[in-house]
Order: sequence, then structure tokens, then C-alpha cells
Amino acid sequence: MKYIKISFCLFIISVLCHEAIFARRSGIRNRSDAYPGGYYNGDTLPVKTAYLTFDDGPSEWTEGILDTLKEEKVNATFFICAYWNNKKMKGANSFRRHSNALLRTVREGHVLGNHTAGHRVLTALSPAQIKKEFSLNQYYLDQVLGSETRSMTIIRPPLGKPWNRNRPLNAMIRVGSTVKNIGMVAMWTKKCDSTDSWDWARGEWYRNSARVDNRTESFLRKKERVYNRIASCAEGNGIVILFHDTHLVTKEVLSPVIKELKRKGYVFRTMEDFTLWKYGRGSRELVGLKSSH
Ligand SMILES: [Zn+2]
Repeated sequence: MKYIKISFCLFIISVLCHEAIFARRSGIRNRSDAYPGGYYNGDTLPVKTAYLTFDDGPSEWTEGILDTLKEEKVNATFFICAYWNNKKMKGANSFRRHSNALLRTVREGHVLGNHTAGHRVLTALSPAQIKKEFSLNQYYLDQVLGSETRSMTIIRPPLGKPWNRNRPLNAMIRVGSTVKNIGMVAMWTKKCDSTDSWDWARGEWYRNSARVDNRTESFLRKKERVYNRIASCAEGNGIVILFHDTHLVTKEVLSPVIKELKRKGYVFRTMEDFTLWKYGRGSRELVGLKSSH
């Protein structure tokens, strides 16, 4: 009897593993709760199309990034977070502190995506807590932008969890079935992680930009590394590039990166454009919201 029980358990485990691998490798994932609609690493993208995405802002460097995007006539997607660097979520949030950057972001045609209010890892939360993290972030945005607010119906989970690497299928289903009615999931092309958040150059810190020294060797090395990484991943294939607008280096490297991609024939689109390209409908409609922005 014991032997039968063990065999049965092993059978169930092997079915679940197989299902997880199968779900990842096949088109079935587009209809699975483990993979709600959106973009995941390895998905097909239109050729020579780059999707610039910036996580964790707004910060004091966001407006500099907006200046570059304006100069280059390029639109991007910002996955914003009200209290990225403030785990207790107390005091003025970064939406309030950088409200002008947010206003410019929407007025200049960029897309705002939801990155949760407190940068919480979704796999550690209950379904109710997950919903609260996204709705709270939306609430803080509405408070700051008023009539110009946007519904953030494209979302990126903090740290990419549970879709960043092989996670248990049940965690993906639990999170996936919760977020599928909140927004379209936007992951990034793994090899196009800009590496801008891998280390901090001297003085490069979210709340303290006053004395960032962009002439130090460590800063220049970091800038070169980020540039090389993006330039080498743009080989004609469509790419979703991960940046963080909480690093000065991102602002400084952006213009050369865009110029190099343009030289290679790339065009730039937002994750909302991706949704329209893939599904023929906007993210609001896909998650069941009615009006147009
Ligand atoms: Zn983040």
C-alpha cells in the first residue's frame, strides 16, 4: 500500500513538472492561468522593434530620461512604484515628489505601467494582498494626476517573480489567476536586461543625486557595460529592454543606446503598442475596462 502511495505521489509530481515545462515551451501558455496575457521572455516580437522599459521610478532622473526620449522622438513604458525605496510606505511617495515627471510622462505620449505600490514580491503575497498592491499604486497615481490619470493596465511584477525563472507551477497559477484581471503582464527579454541595477556607481542613489560623480572610473565602466549589453543584444530581433530610471547611468547611456539601435534599423514602441500588435486590442479592453485611457 505504502509503495502504491509513493508511486502515485511520484506520478503526480512528474505530471506537474511536465505540465510546467510544457506550459513554458508551448503556445498553450497564452491561455493558461500560469501565464496570463502579455509578453514573456522568448515570446515572438516584431523584428527590429525595441521596447524601452524603465522600472522603479519616478526619480529625480526621470525628467532627464524624458528629455532624451523627446529629443530622439521615441516613446517608452515606465513601470512605476509609489514607494520603491520606502518599505514602510510612510511619508510622501515618489509620485508626489516627482509629480511633474509623471505629468510629462503621460503628456509626452509614454505609457505608465503598474509595478505595485511597495515593490512587493508577488509570490510572497495572498491574492487579496496582490490586488491591494496594484490598486493602492493606482490610487496614489490618481491622487497626483487627477483628471489626467491613466489606468495602469500593463503590469510588471517586482523582480519578475514568478515568471523570471523556473518557479513552481502552483505559484505561477496563484499569481497569474489573480493578476489576469488587473493587467497584461510585461516581462523583458532576458539578454536585454541593461544591467544598470547590478551595482551602484559612486553617489548614484535614488534619493540623493546631488553629488553623483559621473567622471569616476566606476561610473564610466558601468556606462560602457550597459551600452555594450544592449548594443550586443540588438541583432535584428525584437527586444524588450529593461532599464531602471533610478540610476543616473541609465539617463546618461540612453542617448547613445537609442542612436546605435536606430543605426541598426530599429524602431521604438511601447508595451501598449505590443498589446495592440499581439492581440489586436488595447490592454484596458483586454482586462475588461471600458473607456479608452
Ligand atoms: Zn522593480
